[in-house]
Amino acid sequence: MIGLIAATAAGQRGCERLAAAWPDRTRVYDGPVREAVTAAFAECEQLVCFLATGAAVRLVAPLLADKASDPGVVCVDEAHRYAVALLGGHGGGANDLAAAVSDILGTAPVVTTATDAVGASGLDTLGLPVEGAIAAVSRAMLDGEPVAMRADAVWPLPALPANVGEAGEAEIRVTDLVVPAGERTAVLRPASLVVGVGGSRGVAAEEVLGLVREALEGAGLSARSVAALATVEAKADEAGIVAAAERLNVPLLTYAAGTLAGIEVPNPSAAPLAAVGTPSVAEAAALAAAGQGGELVVQKRKSAMATAAVARRRPRGRLAVVGLGPGARDLLTPRAREELRRAAVVVGLDQYVDQIRDLLRPGTRILESGLGAEEERARSAVAEARAGYAVALIGSGDAGVYAMASPALAEASADIDVVGVPGVTAALAAAAILGAPLGHDHVSISLSDLHTPWEVIERRVRAAAESDLVVTFYNPRSRGRDWQLPKALAILGEHRTPQTPVGVVHAASRPDERSEVTTLAALDVTTVDMVTVVTVGNTATREVAGRMVTPRGYRWQT
Ligand code: SAH
Repeated sequence: MIGLIAATAAGQRGCERLAAAWPDRTRVYDGPVREAVTAAFAECEQLVCFLATGAAVRLVAPLLADKASDPGVVCVDEAHRYAVALLGGHGGGANDLAAAVSDILGTAPVVTTATDAVGASGLDTLGLPVEGAIAAVSRAMLDGEPVAMRADAVWPLPALPANVGEAGEAEIRVTDLVVPAGERTAVLRPASLVVGVGGSRGVAAEEVLGLVREALEGAGLSARSVAALATVEAKADEAGIVAAAERLNVPLLTYAAGTLAGIEVPNPSAAPLAAVGTPSVAEAAALAAAGQGGELVVQKRKSAMATAAVARRRPRGRLAVVGLGPGARDLLTPRAREELRRAAVVVGLDQYVDQIRDLLRPGTRILESGLGAEEERARSAVAEARAGYAVALIGSGDAGVYAMASPALAEASADIDVVGVPGVTAALAAAAILGAPLGHDHVSISLSDLHTPWEVIERRVRAAAESDLVVTFYNPRSRGRDWQLPKALAILGEHRTPQTPVGVVHAASRPDERSEVTTLAALDVTTVDMVTVVTVGNTATREVAGRMVTPRGYRWQT
């Protein structure tokens, strides 16, 4: 039973919500708080107190008997912001209770027991299965003790703290090999192995699994590094093979017989050629799934009805192209935040790095450069990824909009993984401030003629003017570039009235944000700089209550 205790109206509301969520597991203790806590402490396995931690400590202190039998106690603050596991984190289940309470009340669980804290930032946050002395090595890592890192290859791991290096008594191995268990050795398992399998019709899953296990064991390989099973398309529905993949909890990849027939293998044979049209299933499928640079590490083995072979993949570096949004922290997406913590190397303009420096893992390598070094940034981001690292290339707004994604991907080859994380663009952030200017067809045009001839820009402005598109101007005006914006506005003015609404937004979502809804005739271009976007409405856009509104359609809404 969970005892619920409150001292205030807000606390009582919290009690009611928990009681409603867990009707059979909770009991509300009314009356004076001291008596309520005393009774609940004696009668319940767990307590949730809507009390300050100080008050709760004073009330339960005289009642404490033994870690093994004392109830778990969670405190929730008056504003329901936090659920603090105060007492009995593990034995009393308070850590889990704080999390469960948080699911219902929307509080943040606060857990202070050491092993959980280690878990939150230790080896198990690196995204690979980990085994061995996890707690001991995580602790050494957090305590700043030298920890040796021994990886068979460069895998795109997140950043590790500076004390993880070449030497140390505690050790992290990154390998697909079975290694002797050491008291201070933890092993991360990269997804490096693919097992090619073949089977006669009706082969049992046990037989396939047995052969796979034998193939791995024979070569000293760990099953936890198996990323996939692979076979020929004709076997895609072979129940024993499908079930084997399910049991290993890996996908089953299938390849056309023609594809497999074109792969050179050490042990081709006539039987599969006759049956499914390729001289090799297991070896060829393993190599096909391993991809470029893969190598066969276990040649074909046979049982009565199955075949298996193992190939190792070459690690692939990872390039994440991450948009940081217009500036405000809460317009940075959770996915972008996760990618930043996923990275070991961050590449970007120094001012953008400053925007997110506090979110990076300790030990993250930062390659920052000043304005204008775009190509160099793109090249070094790709080079780091090709060397096998996990790289985040960052940019404001969306990193693919007038930003780093295109120069980087123009350099990138097929041997790295690329992940794009969209960001809130300046145009979208500005639109939300201005009202609803983008309610119908719209276009963004950069007025920077640094890399684009003015004739091209002008042609596009003219086309937008003629086709009545709402236009957002990026890079609208700088000290050395001041005639382009008036010229562009004049072109729009040939097709729109002087009263056409125009929105000007400076530093959207940043502390110095400034915005104005004006008109084509009244716009003062000297208020526009390089941290500004200018959105010009179409012929249907109106100002309503100081906001820019572009109707959804010309007929649907007038
Ligand atoms: N990738 C960015 C655009 C970079 S180009 C994006 O998706 O938004 C740089 C131009 O973007 C600036 O000259 C300015 O016109 C605009 N810009 C960027 N951030 C802005 C902000 N917070 N407020 C207004 N304009 C901004």
